Amino acid sequence: MKFKVGFGFDVHQLKEGIPFVLGGMTLDHHAGAYGHSDADVLVHAICDALLGAANLEDIGYHFPNTEERWKGISSLLLLKECIRLLAEKGWKLGNIDAMLCLEAPKIKPYLPGMKQHISDATGLSVDDISIKATTNETMGFIGRQEGLVAYAVVLIRKLKKRKA
Ligand SMILES: [Zn+2]
Repeated sequence: MKFKVGFGFDVHQLKEGIPFVLGGMTLDHHAGAYGHSDADVLVHAICDALLGAANLEDIGYHFPNTEERWKGISSLLLLKECIRLLAEKGWKLGNIDAMLCLEAPKIKPYLPGMKQHISDATGLSVDDISIKATTNETMGFIGRQEGLVAYAVVLIRKLKKRKA
């Protein structure tokens, strides 16, 4: 068995009065993440971790924000596409460990739903999906609630080809 790890990072601005989509859930909040797709910072970080693990460029390469067909799209569909790209190369996802950094709202009530959405998109068991959250202790752009960030690490694996 061959293993690789991948790392992903994403950041989006927060703007007043727009939907806040995170981990496929819509959060109850006065502001939301702003971007070309649904601006799901968690799912984008996971996509980049997957693509990075398999050395398949990055999310901007596969889903350019200049393309009309990705506008407003659910990022879970992008995640599914990343899994498909990895499967083409024989890679299977082992687990995800992700970290969110935002000031508000509290993420804990949404975690089971987020894990379920990511499980549905990736085929992973929810036991193999970790999502943690912290604040930035009121410092910087995250502390001022101007934006939020997500980090993700994934492990992928494939069976080694037997030598003939
Ligand atoms: Zn993004």
